[in-house]
Amino acid sequence: MKNYVWKYSWILLLAAVIPAAAQQKDNSSDSWTVIRAGSLIDGKSAAPRHDQVIVIHGNRIESVRDAAAAKIPAGAAVVDLSKATLLPGLIDSHTHIFLQGEDPAQGGYDANILNAPLALRAARATVSTRRALEQGFTTLRDVETEGAGYGDVGIKEAIEQGYIPGPRLFVATRAISTTGGYSLEGYAPELDMPKGAQIIDGPVEARKAAREQLDHGADWIKVYMTHRSWVGKNGELVSQPTLTLEELRAVVDETHGWGKKVACHVYGGIGLRRALDGGCDSIEHGLDLDDAAIAQMLKQGTWYVPTISVYYGDWAPADTPAGQRDRLRASLHEQSFKKALKGGVKIVFGTDMGGIPWTQPIAQEFPRMVDLGMQPMDAIQSATSRAAVMLDMEGKIGVVAPGAFADIIAVNGDPLRDIKVLENVQFVMKDGKVFKSEKP
Ligand SMILES: [Zn+2]
Repeated sequence: MKNYVWKYSWILLLAAVIPAAAQQKDNSSDSWTVIRAGSLIDGKSAAPRHDQVIVIHGNRIESVRDAAAAKIPAGAAVVDLSKATLLPGLIDSHTHIFLQGEDPAQGGYDANILNAPLALRAARATVSTRRALEQGFTTLRDVETEGAGYGDVGIKEAIEQGYIPGPRLFVATRAISTTGGYSLEGYAPELDMPKGAQIIDGPVEARKAAREQLDHGADWIKVYMTHRSWVGKNGELVSQPTLTLEELRAVVDETHGWGKKVACHVYGGIGLRRALDGGCDSIEHGLDLDDAAIAQMLKQGTWYVPTISVYYGDWAPADTPAGQRDRLRASLHEQSFKKALKGGVKIVFGTDMGGIPWTQPIAQEFPRMVDLGMQPMDAIQSATSRAAVMLDMEGKIGVVAPGAFADIIAVNGDPLRDIKVLENVQFVMKDGKVFKSEKP
Protein backbone atom coordinates (compact mmCIF):
# COMPACT_ATOMS: atom_id res chain seq x y z
CA MET A 1 0.00 0.00 0.00
CA LYS A 2 2.74 2.38 0.94
CA ASN A 3 4.35 1.60 -2.37
CA TYR A 4 1.10 2.48 -4.15
CA VAL A 5 0.88 5.91 -2.51
CA TRP A 6 4.45 6.68 -3.44
CA LYS A 7 3.80 5.79 -7.08
CA TYR A 8 0.63 7.87 -7.14
CA SER A 9 2.32 11.00 -5.81
CA TRP A 10 5.03 10.53 -8.41
CA ILE A 11 2.37 10.62 -11.14
CA LEU A 12 0.95 13.85 -9.68
CA LEU A 13 4.42 15.36 -9.70
CA LEU A 14 4.81 14.44 -13.37
CA ALA A 15 1.46 16.01 -14.21
CA ALA A 16 2.56 19.26 -12.62
CA VAL A 17 5.56 19.64 -14.93
CA ILE A 18 3.76 19.07 -18.25
CA PRO A 19 4.44 22.29 -20.17
CA ALA A 20 1.66 24.76 -20.83
CA ALA A 21 1.78 24.12 -24.57
CA ALA A 22 0.98 20.45 -24.10
CA GLN A 23 -1.93 21.25 -21.78
CA GLN A 24 -3.48 23.73 -24.21
CA LYS A 25 -4.05 20.93 -26.69
CA ASP A 26 -6.61 19.30 -24.38
CA ASN A 27 -8.38 22.53 -23.46
CA SER A 28 -9.15 23.39 -27.10
CA SER A 29 -10.50 19.98 -28.12
CA ASP A 30 -14.11 21.03 -27.58
CA SER A 31 -13.90 24.67 -28.68
CA TRP A 32 -15.74 26.20 -31.64
CA THR A 33 -14.20 28.69 -34.05
CA VAL A 34 -15.86 30.35 -37.00
CA ILE A 35 -13.93 31.95 -39.86
CA ARG A 36 -15.55 34.31 -42.32
CA ALA A 37 -13.80 33.96 -45.67
CA GLY A 38 -14.03 36.66 -48.35
CA SER A 39 -12.83 34.17 -50.91
CA LEU A 40 -12.05 30.48 -50.48
CA ILE A 41 -9.75 28.36 -52.62
CA ASP A 42 -10.52 25.02 -51.01
CA GLY A 43 -7.57 23.09 -52.50
CA LYS A 44 -9.69 20.76 -54.57
CA SER A 45 -12.45 22.65 -56.42
CA ALA A 46 -11.69 24.14 -59.83
CA ALA A 47 -12.85 27.64 -58.83
CA PRO A 48 -12.91 29.77 -55.67
CA ARG A 49 -16.12 30.44 -53.74
CA HIS A 50 -16.98 33.78 -52.16
CA ASP A 51 -18.47 34.81 -48.78
CA GLN A 52 -18.01 31.49 -47.04
CA VAL A 53 -18.24 30.57 -43.37
CA ILE A 54 -15.98 27.84 -42.04
CA VAL A 55 -17.02 26.25 -38.76
CA ILE A 56 -14.26 24.50 -36.80
CA HIS A 57 -14.79 22.15 -33.87
CA GLY A 58 -11.62 21.36 -31.95
CA ASN A 59 -8.97 20.57 -34.57
CA ARG A 60 -11.37 19.60 -37.39
CA ILE A 61 -13.47 21.45 -39.92
CA GLU A 62 -17.15 20.86 -39.20
CA SER A 63 -18.76 22.69 -42.12
CA VAL A 64 -18.10 25.10 -45.00
CA ARG A 65 -21.17 27.02 -46.19
CA ASP A 66 -22.32 30.17 -47.96
CA ALA A 67 -22.47 32.96 -45.36
CA ALA A 68 -26.25 33.33 -45.86
CA ALA A 69 -26.85 29.65 -44.98
CA ALA A 70 -24.32 29.32 -42.14
CA LYS A 71 -25.21 28.70 -38.50
CA ILE A 72 -22.82 30.14 -35.92
CA PRO A 73 -22.55 27.90 -32.83
CA ALA A 74 -23.17 29.70 -29.52
CA GLY A 75 -19.97 30.84 -27.84
CA ALA A 76 -17.83 30.36 -30.97
CA ALA A 77 -14.77 32.55 -31.46
CA VAL A 78 -15.21 34.47 -34.72
CA VAL A 79 -12.29 35.30 -37.00
CA ASP A 80 -13.21 37.85 -39.63
CA LEU A 81 -11.18 37.32 -42.80
CA SER A 82 -13.89 38.64 -45.10
CA LYS A 83 -11.38 40.75 -47.03
CA ALA A 84 -8.87 37.93 -47.53
CA THR A 85 -8.44 34.82 -49.67
CA LEU A 86 -8.36 31.60 -47.65
CA LEU A 87 -6.62 28.40 -48.65
CA PRO A 88 -5.75 25.09 -47.01
CA GLY A 89 -2.43 25.01 -45.15
CA LEU A 90 0.26 24.49 -47.79
CA ILE A 91 2.38 21.36 -48.20
CA ASP A 92 6.05 21.37 -49.21
CA SER A 93 6.93 17.81 -50.19
CA HIS A 94 10.69 18.25 -50.42
CA THR A 95 12.52 19.94 -47.57
CA HIS A 96 15.60 19.48 -45.35
CA ILE A 97 15.01 21.02 -41.94
CA PHE A 98 18.54 19.99 -40.92
CA LEU A 99 20.16 22.06 -43.69
CA GLN A 100 20.46 25.85 -43.70
CA GLY A 101 21.66 26.62 -47.23
CA GLU A 102 25.21 26.24 -45.94
CA ASP A 103 27.50 28.99 -47.18
CA PRO A 104 30.58 27.54 -48.96
CA ALA A 105 32.62 30.46 -47.57
CA GLN A 106 31.86 29.17 -44.07
CA GLY A 107 32.73 25.54 -44.74
CA GLY A 108 29.52 24.67 -46.56
CA TYR A 109 27.87 21.29 -46.31
CA ASP A 110 30.89 19.55 -44.78
CA ALA A 111 31.18 21.91 -41.79
CA ASN A 112 27.57 21.16 -40.87
CA ILE A 113 28.51 17.51 -40.34
CA LEU A 114 32.11 17.94 -39.13
CA ASN A 115 31.81 20.92 -36.78
CA ALA A 116 28.23 21.45 -35.64
CA PRO A 117 27.15 19.70 -32.43
CA LEU A 118 23.93 17.75 -32.99
CA ALA A 119 22.12 19.98 -30.47
CA LEU A 120 23.01 23.01 -32.59
CA ARG A 121 21.63 21.28 -35.66
CA ALA A 122 18.45 20.38 -33.76
CA ALA A 123 18.05 23.98 -32.59
CA ARG A 124 18.41 25.20 -36.17
CA ALA A 125 15.90 22.59 -37.35
CA THR A 126 13.46 23.89 -34.73
CA VAL A 127 13.77 27.34 -36.30
CA SER A 128 13.32 25.88 -39.81
CA THR A 129 10.04 24.25 -38.87
CA ARG A 130 8.78 27.47 -37.26
CA ARG A 131 9.78 29.39 -40.41
CA ALA A 132 7.75 26.95 -42.50
CA LEU A 133 4.68 27.31 -40.29
CA GLU A 134 4.76 31.12 -40.24
CA GLN A 135 4.83 31.06 -44.07
CA GLY A 136 1.67 28.96 -44.14
CA PHE A 137 3.26 25.57 -44.74
CA THR A 138 1.42 23.38 -42.27
CA THR A 139 2.84 20.10 -43.64
CA LEU A 140 6.34 19.15 -44.79
CA ARG A 141 7.69 15.94 -46.24
CA ASP A 142 11.27 16.26 -45.01
CA VAL A 143 13.45 14.06 -47.18
CA GLU A 144 16.45 13.24 -45.01
CA THR A 145 18.56 14.76 -42.25
CA GLU A 146 21.96 14.99 -44.03
CA GLY A 147 24.02 13.33 -41.34
CA ALA A 148 21.77 14.23 -38.40
CA GLY A 149 20.58 10.63 -38.03
CA TYR A 150 17.05 10.26 -36.70
CA GLY A 151 16.86 13.90 -35.57
CA ASP A 152 13.81 14.47 -37.77
CA VAL A 153 11.86 11.87 -35.79
CA GLY A 154 12.74 13.80 -32.61
CA ILE A 155 11.68 17.16 -34.04
CA LYS A 156 8.42 15.61 -35.24
CA GLU A 157 7.75 14.25 -31.74
CA ALA A 158 8.52 17.66 -30.18
CA ILE A 159 5.95 19.28 -32.50
CA GLU A 160 3.32 16.59 -31.91
CA GLN A 161 3.77 16.83 -28.14
CA GLY A 162 3.33 20.62 -28.23
CA TYR A 163 6.85 21.58 -27.11
CA ILE A 164 7.65 23.57 -30.25
CA PRO A 165 5.48 25.02 -33.04
CA GLY A 166 5.82 23.41 -36.43
CA PRO A 167 4.12 21.76 -39.38
CA ARG A 168 2.98 18.14 -39.61
CA LEU A 169 6.12 16.27 -40.57
CA PHE A 170 6.52 13.24 -42.78
CA VAL A 171 10.14 12.24 -42.27
CA ALA A 172 12.62 10.12 -44.23
CA THR A 173 15.42 9.87 -41.60
CA ARG A 174 18.88 9.01 -42.99
CA ALA A 175 18.32 8.26 -46.73
CA ILE A 176 20.20 5.60 -48.67
CA SER A 177 23.02 5.76 -51.23
CA THR A 178 26.03 3.64 -52.24
CA THR A 179 29.80 3.77 -51.81
CA GLY A 180 30.97 6.70 -53.96
CA GLY A 181 27.43 8.01 -53.95
CA TYR A 182 27.33 10.68 -51.25
CA SER A 183 29.22 13.38 -49.35
CA LEU A 184 31.45 13.76 -47.37
CA GLU A 185 34.00 13.16 -50.09
CA GLY A 186 37.35 14.43 -51.31
CA TYR A 187 39.24 13.59 -48.10
CA ALA A 188 42.32 11.36 -47.77
CA PRO A 189 41.35 7.74 -48.53
CA GLU A 190 42.90 6.68 -45.22
CA LEU A 191 40.19 8.60 -43.34
CA ASP A 192 36.89 6.96 -42.52
CA MET A 193 34.61 9.95 -43.08
CA PRO A 194 30.99 10.24 -41.92
CA LYS A 195 28.43 10.40 -44.74
CA GLY A 196 25.30 12.48 -45.20
CA ALA A 197 23.31 9.33 -46.05
CA GLN A 198 23.36 5.66 -45.04
CA ILE A 199 25.73 3.87 -47.43
CA ILE A 200 24.80 0.39 -48.68
CA ASP A 201 26.34 -2.04 -51.18
CA GLY A 202 24.30 -5.03 -52.30
CA PRO A 203 20.61 -5.89 -51.91
CA VAL A 204 21.07 -7.39 -48.43
CA GLU A 205 22.53 -4.18 -47.02
CA ALA A 206 19.94 -2.16 -48.94
CA ARG A 207 17.04 -4.05 -47.38
CA LYS A 208 18.65 -3.89 -43.93
CA ALA A 209 19.05 -0.09 -44.17
CA ALA A 210 15.39 0.28 -45.13
CA ARG A 211 14.37 -1.96 -42.22
CA GLU A 212 16.47 0.04 -39.75
CA GLN A 213 15.09 3.36 -40.93
CA LEU A 214 11.49 2.16 -40.94
CA ASP A 215 12.00 0.63 -37.50
CA HIS A 216 13.27 3.97 -36.16
CA GLY A 217 10.33 6.00 -37.45
CA ALA A 218 10.78 6.77 -41.16
CA ASP A 219 7.47 7.71 -42.81
CA TRP A 220 9.11 7.61 -46.23
CA ILE A 221 12.34 6.08 -47.48
CA LYS A 222 14.59 8.38 -49.51
CA VAL A 223 17.02 6.89 -52.03
CA TYR A 224 19.69 8.65 -54.06
CA MET A 225 19.60 7.08 -57.54
CA THR A 226 22.16 9.49 -59.06
CA HIS A 227 24.99 11.46 -57.49
CA ARG A 228 27.59 13.47 -59.45
CA SER A 229 26.63 15.15 -62.72
CA TRP A 230 28.69 16.79 -65.47
CA VAL A 231 28.51 17.87 -69.11
CA GLY A 232 29.32 14.90 -71.42
CA LYS A 233 31.32 14.97 -74.63
CA ASN A 234 28.25 15.65 -76.78
CA GLY A 235 27.04 18.47 -74.54
CA GLU A 236 24.58 16.20 -72.73
CA LEU A 237 24.06 16.02 -68.96
CA VAL A 238 25.62 12.85 -67.55
CA SER A 239 24.57 11.66 -64.09
CA GLN A 240 26.45 8.98 -62.16
CA PRO A 241 24.05 6.17 -61.21
CA THR A 242 24.25 4.81 -57.65
CA LEU A 243 22.04 1.90 -56.56
CA THR A 244 21.66 -1.07 -58.92
CA LEU A 245 18.21 -2.25 -59.89
CA GLU A 246 18.53 -5.18 -57.45
CA GLU A 247 19.51 -2.86 -54.59
CA LEU A 248 16.61 -0.50 -55.28
CA ARG A 249 14.12 -3.34 -55.64
CA ALA A 250 15.11 -4.63 -52.19
CA VAL A 251 14.45 -1.18 -50.69
CA VAL A 252 11.14 -0.71 -52.51
CA ASP A 253 9.91 -4.22 -51.71
CA GLU A 254 10.72 -3.82 -48.01
CA THR A 255 9.22 -0.32 -47.79
CA HIS A 256 6.02 -1.24 -49.60
CA GLY A 257 5.66 -4.18 -47.25
CA TRP A 258 5.47 -1.67 -44.38
CA GLY A 259 2.80 0.28 -46.28
CA LYS A 260 5.22 3.15 -46.92
CA LYS A 261 6.61 4.80 -50.06
CA VAL A 262 10.01 5.48 -51.62
CA ALA A 263 11.15 8.92 -52.80
CA CYS A 264 14.00 8.84 -55.30
CA HIS A 265 16.44 11.65 -55.92
CA VAL A 266 17.39 11.28 -59.59
CA TYR A 267 18.46 13.45 -62.52
CA GLY A 268 18.45 11.32 -65.69
CA GLY A 269 20.06 8.54 -67.72
CA ILE A 270 20.85 5.11 -66.26
CA GLY A 271 19.85 6.10 -62.72
CA LEU A 272 16.46 7.34 -63.93
CA ARG A 273 15.75 4.10 -65.83
CA ARG A 274 16.65 2.07 -62.74
CA ALA A 275 14.51 4.35 -60.54
CA LEU A 276 11.43 3.75 -62.69
CA ASP A 277 12.08 0.04 -63.35
CA GLY A 278 12.67 -0.41 -59.61
CA GLY A 279 9.32 1.15 -58.70
CA CYS A 280 10.17 4.48 -57.04
CA ASP A 281 6.94 6.15 -55.90
CA SER A 282 8.15 9.72 -56.40
CA ILE A 283 10.85 11.18 -58.62
CA GLU A 284 12.66 14.06 -56.89
CA HIS A 285 14.21 16.77 -59.13
CA GLY A 286 13.98 14.69 -62.36
CA LEU A 287 16.07 17.24 -64.25
CA ASP A 288 16.41 15.23 -67.42
CA LEU A 289 13.18 13.34 -68.15
CA ASP A 290 13.04 11.83 -71.64
CA ASP A 291 9.80 10.78 -73.38
CA ALA A 292 10.23 7.16 -72.30
CA ALA A 293 10.49 8.25 -68.65
CA ILE A 294 7.35 10.40 -68.94
CA ALA A 295 5.44 7.46 -70.48
CA GLN A 296 6.62 5.10 -67.75
CA MET A 297 5.71 7.59 -64.99
CA LEU A 298 2.20 7.90 -66.43
CA LYS A 299 1.85 4.13 -66.66
CA GLN A 300 3.10 3.52 -63.11
CA GLY A 301 1.41 6.54 -61.52
CA THR A 302 4.74 7.96 -60.37
CA TRP A 303 4.71 11.36 -58.63
CA TYR A 304 7.05 14.13 -59.79
CA VAL A 305 8.46 16.64 -57.30
CA PRO A 306 10.54 18.93 -59.54
CA THR A 307 12.08 21.45 -57.04
CA ILE A 308 12.84 24.10 -59.67
CA SER A 309 14.01 27.11 -57.62
CA VAL A 310 16.99 25.44 -55.99
CA TYR A 311 18.68 24.97 -59.39
CA TYR A 312 18.78 28.75 -59.93
CA GLY A 313 20.87 29.64 -56.87
CA ASP A 314 24.67 29.56 -56.59
CA TRP A 315 25.66 28.96 -60.22
CA ALA A 316 29.42 28.53 -60.67
CA PRO A 317 31.04 31.01 -63.15
CA ALA A 318 29.87 30.46 -66.77
CA ASP A 319 33.35 29.66 -68.09
CA THR A 320 33.96 26.74 -65.69
CA PRO A 321 32.84 23.10 -66.16
CA ALA A 322 30.67 23.35 -63.04
CA GLY A 323 29.15 26.60 -64.29
CA GLN A 324 28.31 25.04 -67.67
CA ARG A 325 26.76 22.07 -65.87
CA ASP A 326 24.67 24.36 -63.62
CA ARG A 327 23.24 26.17 -66.66
CA LEU A 328 22.58 22.94 -68.54
CA ARG A 329 20.79 21.48 -65.52
CA ALA A 330 18.43 24.47 -65.26
CA SER A 331 17.59 24.46 -68.99
CA LEU A 332 16.98 20.68 -69.12
CA HIS A 333 14.88 20.95 -65.98
CA GLU A 334 12.60 23.51 -67.66
CA GLN A 335 12.10 21.20 -70.63
CA SER A 336 11.43 18.22 -68.34
CA PHE A 337 8.87 20.18 -66.32
CA LYS A 338 7.04 21.36 -69.45
CA LYS A 339 7.01 17.82 -70.87
CA ALA A 340 5.68 16.36 -67.61
CA LEU A 341 3.02 19.08 -67.39
CA LYS A 342 1.87 18.50 -70.99
CA GLY A 343 1.87 14.73 -70.50
CA GLY A 344 -0.28 14.90 -67.38
CA VAL A 345 2.28 13.58 -64.87
CA LYS A 346 1.19 14.11 -61.23
CA ILE A 347 3.34 17.12 -60.29
CA VAL A 348 3.73 17.92 -56.59
CA PHE A 349 5.12 21.13 -55.08
CA GLY A 350 8.57 20.77 -53.50
CA THR A 351 11.38 23.25 -52.94
CA ASP A 352 14.49 21.64 -51.44
CA MET A 353 14.40 24.26 -48.65
CA GLY A 354 17.52 23.78 -46.59
CA GLY A 355 19.35 23.60 -49.91
CA ILE A 356 17.85 27.10 -50.08
CA PRO A 357 18.34 29.12 -46.85
CA TRP A 358 15.21 29.11 -44.68
CA THR A 359 15.40 32.92 -44.61
CA GLN A 360 14.11 32.89 -48.22
CA PRO A 361 10.40 32.52 -49.05
CA ILE A 362 9.27 28.92 -49.56
CA ALA A 363 6.51 30.10 -51.90
CA GLN A 364 9.09 31.28 -54.46
CA GLU A 365 8.53 27.91 -56.16
CA PHE A 366 4.97 28.90 -57.19
CA PRO A 367 5.97 31.63 -59.71
CA ARG A 368 8.64 29.28 -61.09
CA MET A 369 5.97 26.69 -61.87
CA VAL A 370 3.55 29.27 -63.28
CA ASP A 371 6.27 30.84 -65.46
CA LEU A 372 6.85 27.39 -66.98
CA GLY A 373 3.21 27.10 -68.01
CA MET A 374 1.36 25.68 -65.01
CA GLN A 375 -2.02 27.28 -64.25
CA PRO A 376 -2.03 29.01 -60.81
CA MET A 377 -4.87 26.78 -59.54
CA ASP A 378 -2.92 23.70 -60.65
CA ALA A 379 0.18 24.98 -58.83
CA ILE A 380 -1.89 25.57 -55.66
CA GLN A 381 -3.37 22.06 -55.87
CA SER A 382 0.14 20.63 -56.28
CA ALA A 383 0.84 22.07 -52.81
CA THR A 384 -2.51 21.06 -51.30
CA SER A 385 -4.87 18.25 -52.32
CA ARG A 386 -2.50 16.52 -54.79
CA ALA A 387 0.31 16.43 -52.24
CA ALA A 388 -2.18 15.07 -49.70
CA VAL A 389 -2.96 12.13 -51.97
CA MET A 390 0.76 11.38 -52.37
CA LEU A 391 1.09 11.46 -48.57
CA ASP A 392 -1.94 9.14 -48.13
CA MET A 393 -3.75 11.99 -46.35
CA GLU A 394 -6.50 12.66 -48.89
CA GLY A 395 -9.41 14.57 -47.34
CA LYS A 396 -7.47 15.12 -44.09
CA ILE A 397 -5.02 17.82 -45.21
CA GLY A 398 -4.65 20.00 -48.31
CA VAL A 399 -8.36 20.79 -48.42
CA VAL A 400 -10.81 23.08 -46.63
CA ALA A 401 -13.78 20.74 -46.30
CA PRO A 402 -15.78 19.00 -43.56
CA GLY A 403 -13.76 16.33 -41.77
CA ALA A 404 -10.34 17.76 -42.66
CA PHE A 405 -7.88 18.99 -40.04
CA ALA A 406 -8.35 22.73 -39.56
CA ASP A 407 -5.14 23.78 -41.33
CA ILE A 408 -6.11 27.09 -42.93
CA ILE A 409 -4.19 30.11 -44.19
CA ALA A 410 -5.13 33.53 -45.55
CA VAL A 411 -3.49 35.97 -47.94
CA ASN A 412 -4.29 39.46 -49.18
CA GLY A 413 -5.26 39.56 -52.84
CA ASP A 414 -5.99 36.86 -55.38
CA PRO A 415 -3.29 34.22 -55.93
CA LEU A 416 -5.02 33.14 -59.15
CA ARG A 417 -4.19 36.56 -60.62
CA ASP A 418 -0.86 37.04 -58.87
CA ILE A 419 0.64 33.83 -57.50
CA LYS A 420 3.31 35.84 -55.66
CA VAL A 421 0.79 36.90 -52.99
CA LEU A 422 1.38 33.42 -51.52
CA GLU A 423 4.79 34.73 -50.36
CA ASN A 424 2.90 36.95 -47.90
CA VAL A 425 0.72 34.78 -45.70
CA GLN A 426 -1.22 36.88 -43.14
CA PHE A 427 -3.00 34.20 -41.15
CA VAL A 428 -2.03 30.65 -40.22
CA MET A 429 -4.13 28.12 -38.35
CA LYS A 430 -2.93 24.58 -37.76
CA ASP A 431 -5.05 21.94 -36.08
CA GLY A 432 -7.68 24.56 -35.20
CA LYS A 433 -5.18 26.75 -33.33
CA VAL A 434 -4.22 30.19 -34.62
CA PHE A 435 -0.44 30.43 -34.99
CA LYS A 436 -0.22 33.75 -36.81
CA SER A 437 -2.71 36.54 -37.37
CA GLU A 438 -1.83 39.79 -39.11
CA LYS A 439 -5.16 41.35 -39.93
CA PRO A 440 -5.13 43.11 -43.31
ZN1 LIG B 1 16.73 17.50 -51.40
